[in-house]
Amino acid sequence: MATDSDLLSRTRAAVWHPCTQMKALEATPPLAIARGEGPWLIDTDGRRYLDAISSWWVNLFGHCNPRINAAITDQLGKIEHVMLAGATHAPVVELSERLARLTGLGHAFYGSDGASATEIALKMSAHYWRNAGQPEKNGFISLRNGYHGETVGALSVTDIPLFKSTYGPLLRNTVQVPTPDARLAESGETAEAYALRCAAALEAHLAEHAGETAAFIVEPLVQGAAGMAMYHPAYLERARELCTEYKVHLIADEIAVGFGRTGTLFACEQAGIRPDFICLSKGITGGYLPLSAVLTTDDIYAAFYGDATARGFLHSHSYTGNPLACSAALAVLDIFETDRIIDANREKSAEFTKLLGEVAAHPRAQHVRSRGMIWAFDVADAAPGFAARFHQAALREGVFIRPIGNTVYVMPPYITQAPEMAKLAEVLLACLTQLEPMR
Ligand SMILES: *Cc1c(COP(=O)(O)O)cnc(C)c1O
Repeated sequence: MATDSDLLSRTRAAVWHPCTQMKALEATPPLAIARGEGPWLIDTDGRRYLDAISSWWVNLFGHCNPRINAAITDQLGKIEHVMLAGATHAPVVELSERLARLTGLGHAFYGSDGASATEIALKMSAHYWRNAGQPEKNGFISLRNGYHGETVGALSVTDIPLFKSTYGPLLRNTVQVPTPDARLAESGETAEAYALRCAAALEAHLAEHAGETAAFIVEPLVQGAAGMAMYHPAYLERARELCTEYKVHLIADEIAVGFGRTGTLFACEQAGIRPDFICLSKGITGGYLPLSAVLTTDDIYAAFYGDATARGFLHSHSYTGNPLACSAALAVLDIFETDRIIDANREKSAEFTKLLGEVAAHPRAQHVRSRGMIWAFDVADAAPGFAARFHQAALREGVFIRPIGNTVYVMPPYITQAPEMAKLAEVLLACLTQLEPMR
Protein backbone atom coordinates (compact mmCIF):
# COMPACT_ATOMS: atom_id res chain seq x y z
CA MET A 1 0.00 0.00 0.00
CA ALA A 2 2.92 2.34 0.73
CA THR A 3 4.35 2.00 -2.80
CA ASP A 4 0.88 2.39 -4.18
CA SER A 5 0.11 5.75 -2.59
CA ASP A 6 3.65 6.90 -3.31
CA LEU A 7 3.15 6.20 -7.01
CA LEU A 8 -0.22 7.99 -6.94
CA SER A 9 1.17 11.18 -5.44
CA ARG A 10 4.13 11.09 -7.84
CA THR A 11 1.86 10.61 -10.86
CA ARG A 12 -0.19 13.65 -9.78
CA ALA A 13 3.00 15.67 -9.39
CA ALA A 14 4.78 14.57 -12.57
CA VAL A 15 2.30 13.22 -15.13
CA TRP A 16 -0.41 15.13 -17.01
CA HIS A 17 -2.99 12.40 -17.64
CA PRO A 18 -4.95 12.33 -20.92
CA CYS A 19 -8.62 13.26 -21.17
CA THR A 20 -8.60 14.06 -17.45
CA GLN A 21 -9.41 17.05 -15.25
CA MET A 22 -6.35 16.56 -13.05
CA LYS A 23 -8.15 17.87 -9.96
CA ALA A 24 -10.53 14.91 -10.22
CA LEU A 25 -7.59 12.64 -9.39
CA GLU A 26 -7.71 13.97 -5.79
CA ALA A 27 -11.02 12.17 -5.27
CA THR A 28 -10.51 9.29 -7.72
CA PRO A 29 -6.88 8.30 -8.14
CA PRO A 30 -5.89 6.26 -11.20
CA LEU A 31 -5.15 2.55 -10.86
CA ALA A 32 -1.47 1.92 -10.22
CA ILE A 33 -0.81 -0.97 -12.60
CA ALA A 34 2.20 -3.18 -12.02
CA ARG A 35 1.66 -5.80 -14.70
CA GLY A 36 -0.80 -7.45 -17.06
CA GLU A 37 -1.72 -11.01 -17.85
CA GLY A 38 -4.13 -11.93 -20.66
CA PRO A 39 -7.30 -9.84 -20.15
CA TRP A 40 -6.25 -8.92 -16.60
CA LEU A 41 -4.63 -5.76 -15.23
CA ILE A 42 -2.85 -6.29 -11.90
CA ASP A 43 -2.24 -3.35 -9.58
CA THR A 44 0.68 -2.74 -7.25
CA ASP A 45 -1.24 -4.44 -4.42
CA GLY A 46 -1.85 -7.55 -6.51
CA ARG A 47 -5.57 -6.81 -7.14
CA ARG A 48 -6.84 -7.97 -10.55
CA TYR A 49 -9.12 -6.06 -12.89
CA LEU A 50 -10.69 -7.39 -16.09
CA ASP A 51 -9.67 -5.05 -18.92
CA ALA A 52 -13.19 -4.93 -20.39
CA ILE A 53 -12.40 -2.11 -22.85
CA SER A 54 -9.06 -3.42 -24.11
CA SER A 55 -7.08 -0.47 -22.72
CA TRP A 56 -8.85 2.16 -24.87
CA TRP A 57 -9.66 -0.30 -27.65
CA VAL A 58 -6.09 -1.20 -28.55
CA ASN A 59 -5.50 -4.64 -27.02
CA LEU A 60 -6.47 -7.70 -29.07
CA PHE A 61 -4.67 -10.73 -27.71
CA GLY A 62 -4.14 -9.89 -24.07
CA HIS A 63 -1.42 -8.27 -22.03
CA CYS A 64 2.04 -9.84 -22.12
CA ASN A 65 1.10 -12.10 -25.00
CA PRO A 66 3.97 -14.58 -25.38
CA ARG A 67 3.95 -14.54 -29.19
CA ILE A 68 3.98 -10.77 -29.53
CA ASN A 69 6.57 -10.50 -26.75
CA ALA A 70 8.79 -12.96 -28.62
CA ALA A 71 8.46 -11.10 -31.94
CA ILE A 72 9.46 -7.78 -30.36
CA THR A 73 12.32 -9.38 -28.42
CA ASP A 74 13.61 -11.02 -31.60
CA GLN A 75 13.49 -7.71 -33.49
CA LEU A 76 15.16 -5.94 -30.55
CA GLY A 77 18.26 -8.09 -31.12
CA LYS A 78 18.47 -6.90 -34.75
CA ILE A 79 17.65 -3.20 -34.91
CA GLU A 80 15.35 -1.10 -32.73
CA HIS A 81 14.89 1.79 -35.14
CA VAL A 82 16.26 3.40 -38.26
CA MET A 83 14.83 6.42 -40.06
CA LEU A 84 12.63 5.48 -43.01
CA ALA A 85 13.72 8.31 -45.32
CA GLY A 86 16.78 6.99 -47.14
CA ALA A 87 16.58 3.56 -45.45
CA THR A 88 14.22 0.59 -45.33
CA HIS A 89 14.00 -2.73 -43.45
CA ALA A 90 12.31 -6.10 -43.65
CA PRO A 91 9.56 -5.58 -41.01
CA VAL A 92 8.18 -2.43 -42.69
CA VAL A 93 8.30 -4.01 -46.17
CA GLU A 94 6.63 -7.23 -45.05
CA LEU A 95 3.96 -5.39 -43.06
CA SER A 96 3.20 -3.09 -46.00
CA GLU A 97 2.88 -6.07 -48.37
CA ARG A 98 0.57 -7.90 -46.00
CA LEU A 99 -1.62 -4.86 -45.25
CA ALA A 100 -1.91 -4.27 -49.01
CA ARG A 101 -3.09 -7.85 -49.57
CA LEU A 102 -5.62 -7.52 -46.75
CA THR A 103 -7.04 -4.09 -47.64
CA GLY A 104 -6.82 -4.10 -51.45
CA LEU A 105 -5.03 -0.74 -51.15
CA GLY A 106 -1.29 -0.07 -51.22
CA HIS A 107 1.80 1.96 -50.43
CA ALA A 108 1.40 2.09 -46.66
CA PHE A 109 2.45 5.43 -45.15
CA TYR A 110 3.17 5.23 -41.42
CA GLY A 111 2.57 7.47 -38.42
CA SER A 112 2.71 6.76 -34.72
CA ASP A 113 -0.89 7.22 -33.61
CA GLY A 114 -4.41 7.43 -34.92
CA ALA A 115 -4.62 11.21 -35.09
CA SER A 116 -1.51 11.37 -37.26
CA ALA A 117 -3.08 8.80 -39.63
CA THR A 118 -6.08 11.13 -39.98
CA GLU A 119 -3.77 14.07 -40.67
CA ILE A 120 -1.90 12.03 -43.30
CA ALA A 121 -5.10 10.97 -45.09
CA LEU A 122 -6.52 14.54 -45.10
CA LYS A 123 -3.25 16.02 -46.38
CA MET A 124 -2.80 13.32 -49.02
CA SER A 125 -6.35 13.80 -50.29
CA ALA A 126 -6.07 17.59 -50.65
CA HIS A 127 -2.57 17.25 -52.12
CA TYR A 128 -3.90 14.73 -54.66
CA TRP A 129 -6.44 17.28 -55.92
CA ARG A 130 -3.76 19.97 -56.06
CA ASN A 131 -1.53 17.66 -58.11
CA ALA A 132 -4.55 16.94 -60.31
CA GLY A 133 -4.94 20.65 -61.05
CA GLN A 134 -7.96 21.17 -58.76
CA PRO A 135 -6.53 22.90 -55.68
CA GLU A 136 -9.98 24.30 -54.84
CA LYS A 137 -11.04 20.78 -53.84
CA ASN A 138 -9.66 21.07 -50.30
CA GLY A 139 -12.71 20.86 -48.03
CA PHE A 140 -13.71 17.92 -45.84
CA ILE A 141 -16.99 16.31 -44.86
CA SER A 142 -17.49 14.08 -41.82
CA LEU A 143 -20.39 12.58 -39.89
CA ARG A 144 -22.11 14.29 -36.98
CA ASN A 145 -20.74 12.91 -33.69
CA GLY A 146 -17.74 11.50 -35.57
CA TYR A 147 -14.33 11.13 -33.97
CA HIS A 148 -11.05 11.11 -35.88
CA GLY A 149 -8.49 12.21 -33.28
CA GLU A 150 -7.58 15.40 -31.47
CA THR A 151 -4.61 17.07 -33.16
CA VAL A 152 -5.70 20.32 -34.79
CA GLY A 153 -6.37 18.90 -38.29
CA ALA A 154 -8.03 15.73 -37.02
CA LEU A 155 -10.10 17.73 -34.51
CA SER A 156 -11.43 19.80 -37.42
CA VAL A 157 -13.25 16.71 -38.75
CA THR A 158 -14.13 15.41 -35.26
CA ASP A 159 -17.59 16.41 -34.01
CA ILE A 160 -17.58 15.78 -30.25
CA PRO A 161 -18.29 19.16 -28.58
CA LEU A 162 -16.52 18.26 -25.31
CA PHE A 163 -13.25 17.80 -27.16
CA LYS A 164 -13.79 20.40 -29.87
CA SER A 165 -15.55 23.56 -28.64
CA THR A 166 -12.65 24.93 -26.60
CA TYR A 167 -10.36 24.83 -29.60
CA GLY A 168 -12.88 26.17 -32.14
CA PRO A 169 -10.80 29.22 -33.07
CA LEU A 170 -7.83 26.99 -33.96
CA LEU A 171 -9.75 24.75 -36.32
CA ARG A 172 -10.55 24.68 -40.00
CA ASN A 173 -14.18 24.82 -41.12
CA THR A 174 -15.50 21.44 -42.17
CA VAL A 175 -19.00 20.18 -42.86
CA GLN A 176 -20.87 17.57 -40.82
CA VAL A 177 -23.65 15.55 -42.44
CA PRO A 178 -26.35 13.58 -40.55
CA THR A 179 -25.14 10.43 -38.83
CA PRO A 180 -26.83 7.14 -39.76
CA ASP A 181 -26.69 6.16 -36.02
CA ALA A 182 -29.60 3.69 -35.90
CA ARG A 183 -30.80 5.08 -32.55
CA LEU A 184 -31.98 8.18 -34.42
CA ALA A 185 -34.35 6.32 -36.74
CA GLU A 186 -37.98 7.38 -36.50
CA SER A 187 -40.28 4.89 -34.81
CA GLY A 188 -41.21 2.26 -37.39
CA GLU A 189 -38.26 3.19 -39.61
CA THR A 190 -35.67 0.43 -40.11
CA ALA A 191 -31.96 1.08 -39.53
CA GLU A 192 -31.44 0.53 -43.24
CA ALA A 193 -34.15 2.99 -44.30
CA TYR A 194 -32.71 5.57 -41.91
CA ALA A 195 -29.19 4.95 -43.24
CA LEU A 196 -30.41 5.58 -46.78
CA ARG A 197 -32.23 8.74 -45.68
CA CYS A 198 -28.91 9.99 -44.26
CA ALA A 199 -27.13 9.01 -47.47
CA ALA A 200 -29.63 11.17 -49.36
CA ALA A 201 -28.56 14.10 -47.15
CA LEU A 202 -24.93 13.36 -48.06
CA GLU A 203 -25.90 13.39 -51.72
CA ALA A 204 -27.67 16.71 -51.38
CA HIS A 205 -24.51 18.20 -49.90
CA LEU A 206 -22.23 16.67 -52.54
CA ALA A 207 -24.48 17.85 -55.37
CA GLU A 208 -23.85 21.44 -54.22
CA HIS A 209 -20.31 21.28 -52.90
CA ALA A 210 -18.34 18.45 -54.54
CA GLY A 211 -16.31 21.04 -56.46
CA GLU A 212 -14.76 22.33 -53.23
CA THR A 213 -14.58 19.00 -51.40
CA ALA A 214 -11.51 16.77 -51.23
CA ALA A 215 -12.82 13.93 -49.08
CA PHE A 216 -15.53 12.46 -46.89
CA ILE A 217 -14.11 10.77 -43.77
CA VAL A 218 -16.14 8.18 -41.83
CA GLU A 219 -15.84 5.62 -39.05
CA PRO A 220 -17.27 2.54 -40.82
CA LEU A 221 -20.23 0.83 -39.02
CA VAL A 222 -19.47 2.06 -35.47
CA GLN A 223 -18.86 5.62 -34.27
CA GLY A 224 -16.82 4.72 -31.22
CA ALA A 225 -16.29 7.94 -29.27
CA ALA A 226 -19.91 8.98 -29.97
CA GLY A 227 -20.84 6.13 -27.61
CA MET A 228 -20.62 3.04 -29.85
CA ALA A 229 -23.23 4.41 -32.25
CA MET A 230 -23.89 1.63 -34.76
CA TYR A 231 -25.36 1.92 -38.23
CA HIS A 232 -26.44 -0.13 -41.22
CA PRO A 233 -23.79 -0.98 -43.87
CA ALA A 234 -26.15 0.31 -46.59
CA TYR A 235 -24.92 3.78 -45.66
CA LEU A 236 -21.34 2.92 -46.59
CA GLU A 237 -22.42 1.22 -49.78
CA ARG A 238 -24.34 4.32 -50.87
CA ALA A 239 -21.59 6.69 -49.66
CA ARG A 240 -19.10 4.77 -51.82
CA GLU A 241 -21.31 5.19 -54.89
CA LEU A 242 -21.83 8.89 -54.20
CA CYS A 243 -18.14 9.62 -53.59
CA THR A 244 -17.29 7.93 -56.89
CA GLU A 245 -20.06 9.75 -58.73
CA TYR A 246 -19.16 13.17 -57.32
CA LYS A 247 -15.38 12.65 -57.43
CA VAL A 248 -14.75 13.01 -53.70
CA HIS A 249 -12.37 10.67 -51.84
CA LEU A 250 -13.82 8.28 -49.29
CA ILE A 251 -11.55 7.95 -46.24
CA ALA A 252 -12.36 4.96 -44.01
CA ASP A 253 -11.15 5.68 -40.49
CA GLU A 254 -10.80 2.07 -39.30
CA ILE A 255 -8.55 3.09 -36.41
CA ALA A 256 -11.03 1.69 -33.87
CA VAL A 257 -13.04 -0.77 -35.96
CA GLY A 258 -10.18 -2.38 -37.88
CA PHE A 259 -8.53 -5.68 -37.02
CA GLY A 260 -11.65 -7.67 -36.34
CA ARG A 261 -13.56 -5.42 -33.91
CA THR A 262 -16.80 -5.48 -35.89
CA GLY A 263 -16.61 -9.14 -36.85
CA THR A 264 -14.72 -8.85 -40.14
CA LEU A 265 -11.04 -7.97 -40.42
CA PHE A 266 -12.06 -4.52 -41.66
CA ALA A 267 -15.53 -3.03 -41.19
CA CYS A 268 -15.76 -1.88 -44.84
CA GLU A 269 -15.92 -5.54 -45.87
CA GLN A 270 -19.45 -5.74 -44.45
CA ALA A 271 -20.57 -3.13 -46.97
CA GLY A 272 -18.58 -4.75 -49.76
CA ILE A 273 -16.75 -1.51 -50.46
CA ARG A 274 -13.17 -0.38 -50.91
CA PRO A 275 -12.40 3.16 -49.70
CA ASP A 276 -9.85 5.48 -51.36
CA PHE A 277 -7.90 5.70 -48.12
CA ILE A 278 -7.91 3.49 -45.05
CA CYS A 279 -6.54 4.69 -41.68
CA LEU A 280 -5.33 1.98 -39.30
CA SER A 281 -3.94 2.13 -35.75
CA LYS A 282 -5.05 0.96 -32.26
CA GLY A 283 -5.26 -2.86 -32.70
CA ILE A 284 -2.58 -2.90 -35.40
CA THR A 285 0.15 -3.81 -32.90
CA GLY A 286 -2.19 -5.73 -30.60
CA GLY A 287 -2.01 -2.79 -28.19
CA TYR A 288 1.75 -2.99 -27.75
CA LEU A 289 3.36 -0.04 -29.49
CA PRO A 290 2.17 3.17 -31.12
CA LEU A 291 1.84 2.68 -34.88
CA SER A 292 -0.58 3.88 -37.53
CA ALA A 293 -0.80 3.40 -41.27
CA VAL A 294 -2.63 4.97 -44.19
CA LEU A 295 -3.03 2.98 -47.40
CA THR A 296 -4.46 4.30 -50.65
CA THR A 297 -5.23 3.42 -54.28
CA ASP A 298 -2.65 3.08 -57.05
CA ASP A 299 -4.32 6.02 -58.85
CA ILE A 300 -3.87 8.35 -55.91
CA TYR A 301 -0.31 7.14 -55.38
CA ALA A 302 0.48 7.76 -59.07
CA ALA A 303 -0.59 11.42 -58.81
CA PHE A 304 2.35 12.04 -56.45
CA TYR A 305 4.93 10.19 -58.56
CA GLY A 306 7.17 12.37 -60.74
CA ASP A 307 10.32 14.43 -61.02
CA ALA A 308 9.15 17.47 -59.04
CA THR A 309 9.99 17.11 -55.32
CA ALA A 310 6.99 19.15 -54.21
CA ARG A 311 4.66 16.80 -56.10
CA GLY A 312 5.70 14.08 -53.64
CA PHE A 313 4.17 13.65 -50.19
CA LEU A 314 6.72 15.45 -48.01
CA HIS A 315 5.21 14.48 -44.66
CA SER A 316 7.26 12.75 -41.98
CA HIS A 317 7.36 11.56 -38.40
CA SER A 318 10.63 10.63 -36.67
CA TYR A 319 9.44 7.14 -35.83
CA THR A 320 7.82 6.38 -39.21
CA GLY A 321 7.76 2.60 -39.75
CA ASN A 322 9.47 1.77 -36.45
CA PRO A 323 10.82 -1.82 -36.74
CA LEU A 324 9.74 -2.86 -33.23
CA ALA A 325 6.17 -1.67 -33.83
CA CYS A 326 6.13 -3.33 -37.27
CA SER A 327 7.34 -6.62 -35.78
CA ALA A 328 4.51 -6.49 -33.22
CA ALA A 329 2.05 -5.84 -36.07
CA LEU A 330 3.42 -8.81 -38.04
CA ALA A 331 2.98 -11.06 -35.00
CA VAL A 332 -0.62 -9.82 -34.71
CA LEU A 333 -1.33 -10.70 -38.36
CA ASP A 334 0.26 -14.14 -37.78
CA ILE A 335 -2.08 -14.77 -34.84
CA PHE A 336 -5.10 -13.74 -36.95
CA GLU A 337 -4.07 -16.31 -39.56
CA THR A 338 -2.84 -19.26 -37.53
CA ASP A 339 -5.62 -19.06 -34.90
CA ARG A 340 -8.34 -18.19 -37.46
CA ILE A 341 -9.41 -15.36 -35.19
CA ILE A 342 -12.19 -13.97 -37.37
CA ASP A 343 -13.96 -17.36 -37.42
CA ALA A 344 -13.29 -18.00 -33.74
CA ASN A 345 -14.63 -14.55 -32.83
CA ARG A 346 -17.86 -15.25 -34.69
CA GLU A 347 -18.62 -18.04 -32.22
CA LYS A 348 -17.27 -16.08 -29.30
CA SER A 349 -19.45 -13.10 -30.20
CA ALA A 350 -22.61 -15.24 -30.20
CA GLU A 351 -21.60 -16.87 -26.90
CA PHE A 352 -20.87 -13.51 -25.23
CA THR A 353 -24.17 -12.08 -26.47
CA LYS A 354 -25.91 -14.95 -24.64
CA LEU A 355 -23.87 -14.36 -21.49
CA LEU A 356 -24.89 -10.70 -21.58
CA GLY A 357 -28.55 -11.62 -22.03
CA GLU A 358 -29.64 -10.71 -18.51
CA VAL A 359 -27.88 -7.35 -18.75
CA ALA A 360 -29.57 -6.69 -22.10
CA ALA A 361 -32.94 -7.53 -20.52
CA HIS A 362 -32.43 -5.12 -17.58
CA PRO A 363 -35.28 -2.60 -17.51
CA ARG A 364 -32.83 0.33 -17.61
CA ALA A 365 -30.87 -0.96 -20.62
CA GLN A 366 -31.98 0.81 -23.81
CA HIS A 367 -30.82 0.58 -27.42
CA VAL A 368 -29.06 -2.69 -26.66
CA ARG A 369 -26.70 -3.27 -29.59
CA SER A 370 -23.68 -5.25 -30.63
CA ARG A 371 -21.48 -5.84 -33.61
CA GLY A 372 -18.67 -8.39 -33.64
CA MET A 373 -16.65 -7.90 -30.47
CA ILE A 374 -18.43 -4.72 -29.29
CA TRP A 375 -21.51 -4.65 -27.03
CA ALA A 376 -23.27 -1.49 -25.84
CA PHE A 377 -26.45 -0.17 -24.27
CA ASP A 378 -27.68 3.19 -23.01
CA VAL A 379 -28.82 3.54 -19.42
CA ALA A 380 -32.20 5.15 -18.83
CA ASP A 381 -32.46 7.85 -16.13
CA ALA A 382 -28.67 8.07 -15.73
CA ALA A 383 -27.97 10.68 -13.06
CA PRO A 384 -25.22 13.29 -13.61
CA GLY A 385 -21.81 11.74 -12.99
CA PHE A 386 -23.14 8.32 -13.97
CA ALA A 387 -20.08 7.31 -16.03
CA ALA A 388 -17.60 8.06 -13.24
CA ARG A 389 -19.74 6.35 -10.58
CA PHE A 390 -20.28 3.28 -12.76
CA HIS A 391 -16.53 3.12 -13.43
CA GLN A 392 -15.78 3.23 -9.68
CA ALA A 393 -18.47 0.70 -8.81
CA ALA A 394 -17.13 -1.74 -11.42
CA LEU A 395 -13.55 -1.25 -10.19
CA ARG A 396 -14.61 -2.34 -6.71
CA GLU A 397 -15.85 -5.56 -8.33
CA GLY A 398 -12.64 -6.11 -10.28
CA VAL A 399 -13.69 -4.80 -13.70
CA PHE A 400 -12.03 -1.91 -15.55
CA ILE A 401 -14.71 -0.25 -17.70
CA ARG A 402 -15.38 3.39 -18.63
CA PRO A 403 -18.88 4.31 -19.86
CA ILE A 404 -19.19 7.17 -22.36
CA GLY A 405 -21.93 9.44 -20.97
CA ASN A 406 -24.85 7.09 -20.28
CA THR A 407 -23.57 4.44 -22.70
CA VAL A 408 -22.07 1.35 -21.11
CA TYR A 409 -19.99 -0.64 -23.56
CA VAL A 410 -17.86 -3.75 -23.49
CA MET A 411 -14.95 -4.24 -25.89
CA PRO A 412 -12.88 -7.09 -24.47
CA PRO A 413 -9.58 -8.46 -25.76
CA TYR A 414 -10.22 -11.40 -28.11
CA ILE A 415 -8.54 -13.86 -25.74
CA THR A 416 -11.27 -13.24 -23.13
CA GLN A 417 -12.98 -16.52 -22.19
CA ALA A 418 -16.58 -17.34 -21.24
CA PRO A 419 -16.00 -17.46 -17.43
CA GLU A 420 -14.44 -13.98 -17.56
CA MET A 421 -17.34 -12.73 -19.67
CA ALA A 422 -19.81 -14.29 -17.22
CA LYS A 423 -18.10 -12.42 -14.38
CA LEU A 424 -18.27 -9.22 -16.39
CA ALA A 425 -22.01 -9.72 -17.00
CA GLU A 426 -22.55 -10.25 -13.26
CA VAL A 427 -20.66 -7.07 -12.41
CA LEU A 428 -22.56 -5.02 -14.99
CA LEU A 429 -25.86 -6.20 -13.50
CA ALA A 430 -24.70 -5.48 -9.95
CA CYS A 431 -23.56 -1.97 -10.92
CA LEU A 432 -26.83 -1.22 -12.73
CA THR A 433 -28.78 -2.27 -9.66
CA GLN A 434 -26.45 -0.45 -7.27
CA LEU A 435 -26.76 2.78 -9.27
CA GLU A 436 -30.57 2.76 -9.48
CA PRO A 437 -31.91 6.30 -9.64
CA MET A 438 -33.66 7.49 -6.43
CA ARG A 439 -37.42 7.26 -6.77
C1 LIG B 1 -8.84 6.57 -31.27
C2 LIG B 1 -9.29 7.05 -32.59
C3 LIG B 1 -8.55 7.99 -33.32
C4 LIG B 1 -7.32 8.65 -32.77
O1 LIG B 1 -6.29 7.76 -32.47
P1 LIG B 1 -5.18 8.22 -31.39
O2 LIG B 1 -4.18 7.14 -31.45
O3 LIG B 1 -5.88 8.31 -30.08
O4 LIG B 1 -4.66 9.53 -31.85
C5 LIG B 1 -9.00 8.35 -34.57
N1 LIG B 1 -10.12 7.81 -35.09
C6 LIG B 1 -10.86 6.90 -34.42
C7 LIG B 1 -12.08 6.33 -35.06
C8 LIG B 1 -10.49 6.51 -33.14
O5 LIG B 1 -11.26 5.68 -32.45
